[in-house]
Amino acid sequence: MKYSDKILNTPSSFIRNILKVTDAPDVISFAGGLPNPISFPIDEMQKSINHAIEENGAKLFQYSTTEGYLPLRQYIATKYNKSFGLDIAPEDILITTGSQQALELISKVLLNKGDGVVMEEPGYLGAIQAFTLSEPTFYTVQLEDDGLNVEQLRHTLESNPNIKFIYVVPNFHNPTGITYSKEKREAIYNVVKDFDVVLIEDDPYGELRWSGEKLPYIGAGRLENSVVLGSFSKIVTPGMRLGFVITKNKELMHHINTAKQATDLHTNIFSQIVVHDYLVNNDLDAHVAKIIKLYQEQANTMLNAMAKYFPSSIKYTKPEGGMFIWVTLEEGTSALDFFNKAMEEKVAFVPGDPFYTGKSNVNTLRLNYTNSSPEIIEEGIKRLGKILYAISSE
Ligand code: PMP
Repeated sequence: MKYSDKILNTPSSFIRNILKVTDAPDVISFAGGLPNPISFPIDEMQKSINHAIEENGAKLFQYSTTEGYLPLRQYIATKYNKSFGLDIAPEDILITTGSQQALELISKVLLNKGDGVVMEEPGYLGAIQAFTLSEPTFYTVQLEDDGLNVEQLRHTLESNPNIKFIYVVPNFHNPTGITYSKEKREAIYNVVKDFDVVLIEDDPYGELRWSGEKLPYIGAGRLENSVVLGSFSKIVTPGMRLGFVITKNKELMHHINTAKQATDLHTNIFSQIVVHDYLVNNDLDAHVAKIIKLYQEQANTMLNAMAKYFPSSIKYTKPEGGMFIWVTLEEGTSALDFFNKAMEEKVAFVPGDPFYTGKSNVNTLRLNYTNSSPEIIEEGIKRLGKILYAISSE
């Protein structure tokens, strides 16, 4: 059978593929990006399911509107306006099947084959996949400890008029865990405002902050072509598959709506009504505070263990929130080789390769801490440390 170039050129997710091996019960896995299931509000959701059915009956099981459940969009608008001093109305919001779908819809709307996309290097694998289906040209800009390299961004935009959008994860970035500084956000805004491009700020982790101050978005509220993506995956449950697009650009929203119609008509209305019921009948802030406390403890355990067991030549990020730590091994060390050795010791992580669009056999890797107990984290890092000492003396 002959397949499309689109699908043949789209990488299958290394992470999803290795999950089959790393999910074995005797493997300590720092590989997935899964929220901790103990953070799911199961009892409250049970009540909301019953309550939503009692209140809405057949509406939960009927087709619904493409833009999404109006009370949920109202809830999101109020929340974002309060948190960020924005002026968002429900019509500036479209509910998607996870924010992952928003990435695909936006690329369908904006990209012709060969059009340019600015990606962080390293960048979110799921975005690389979603965009690749539209066969773009990727322009990577280096991600520094405090955000994109601004000069490189300016140069890239100036030299490539085919660029349609810039994609960034400004808070607790996947895969590196870094957060863009206030200064970098301002500097990026000052570059982007002079170009006819869309700025996508993908923010599924922003609420999971345990240190430092909450920062304003780069473009929201001031760039005409600003898109912010949000998600309930990391603060309520990923299984309900609820994300959303926020943009005040009416034309762009109209096209996203059309793409959504063509893709799946609308997001699961059962999920939308149930999660909305949960949100209005529970204290979300208190729930998120519990998740933050849990993840902070896990992150600290991992960082302390790395300080104790890793050779001092190994560098790593120290996140202020979110779910990931990014490790840089000594120059010339292959993270893939390290991965194979680690799997022999039954510890898994994600070697850096899939997070780059144009590099392979890199010396970087991603560690997730949210899905293991402190004891398991300590043990896993200890095993990794042993291997790293052995590698550095080879
Ligand atoms: N964007 C980023 C940066 C992510 O890390 C993820 C989840 N791994 C997503 C989007 C997709 O999240 P969801 O579709 O569950 O909202």
